[in-house]
Amino acid sequence: MLDNLKAQAPDALLALIKMHAADPRDDKIDLGVGVYRTNDGATPVFRAIKQAEQRLLEVQDSKSYLGPEGDSGFVKALMPYIFGEGSPLAPRIEGMQTPGGTGAVRLAVALAQKAGVKRIFLGVPSWPNHAQILDDVGVETVTFNHASDDGTADLDAVLGAIRDATGDGAVLLHGCCHNPTGIDYTAEQWAAIADAFAESGVLPILDIAYQGLGQGMEEDVQGVRAVLGKVPEALVAYSCDKNFGLYRDRVGAFYMMAKDGGELAAIASNANALARANWSMPPDHGGAAVRLLLEDEGMTAVWLEELDEMRTRMRRVRDRLGAADNEVPGLGLAALAGQNGLFAMLPLSKDQIASLREDHGIYMAGSGRINVAGLHAGNTEKFIAALGDVTK
Ligand code: PMP
Repeated sequence: MLDNLKAQAPDALLALIKMHAADPRDDKIDLGVGVYRTNDGATPVFRAIKQAEQRLLEVQDSKSYLGPEGDSGFVKALMPYIFGEGSPLAPRIEGMQTPGGTGAVRLAVALAQKAGVKRIFLGVPSWPNHAQILDDVGVETVTFNHASDDGTADLDAVLGAIRDATGDGAVLLHGCCHNPTGIDYTAEQWAAIADAFAESGVLPILDIAYQGLGQGMEEDVQGVRAVLGKVPEALVAYSCDKNFGLYRDRVGAFYMMAKDGGELAAIASNANALARANWSMPPDHGGAAVRLLLEDEGMTAVWLEELDEMRTRMRRVRDRLGAADNEVPGLGLAALAGQNGLFAMLPLSKDQIASLREDHGIYMAGSGRINVAGLHAGNTEKFIAALGDVTK
């Protein structure tokens, strides 16, 4: 039976990690994997998380089962950051903990399908796992263009998608720090998107995986809040894996917003049943640490400071890349300064990407996506010079 299985293409980024690890050059640069890096190229545990984990060790007195909804204190503690302090929407929102943002996206898609959604509209390019999840759950993927050639978001395409989704469709949007392009909708564009959702009655699925790493904690969710303020129903997937640096601990949350608070119990019971059949319960450790962190003013202040440092550092790299537009014309580098988060796309050919790797020890995805956080004061000039070399 098992010999019926055909080999799947290996994950290209994992192959890249191996190649980078095997490269003996001291000045090699890894722009492939999507994790934050410091000026020294490290991905350390946050100071605030270390404190919270210490506390967790002291206060946790049981590891007995919690249930499919996970740590409800964690789920509630995140809500003011996502929906706003004292949001009037809170009575219409129910949440649950998930294994990472991936688990939350999967629940969102499966719940939408269970509610009758047949097609999900997805701006491309997108995080590759979006399409894989849609395919695996068994809803039809309808793609639209996320970005225009000038490095800004394609508003007409998303408005068209929302119109076309009327009836049995839903539209999946990145809340901020778009992966892989770094191109987010502007406040004016979000306002138009919110109106389009409200007019069409189409269900928004909003994926927030990088809050605080774009323009700021509040700024990064203004678009999501603009949509939620106008629509009767929405699904929100949230990841804590980047903005708390918890990647392997798999920390996420899934929120359901209903027309009326009275409908929430029935909706959430369906999400619980889906979670039960998928993973039964989310892993506890990271979510519990985030809860302890957010319940403590001191640790919260340290965490926000750490996020500030990360965002400011990535802004500096983006500003330098933007200013290099004159030095390396033709790649649209100027636009990178105005984009957000860890990622950017460079219009490089396969040969140019191979030459960056082989001749310069610079590793990036075959799509042209770079992880901006892989650059820092010590290697950005080398990267710019190498871009100049492969594009001359
Ligand atoms: N959504 C997007 C857009 C992402 O980029 C990611 C992470 N790469 C996720 C969701 C899921 O994150 P995780 O499962 O690691 O929390």
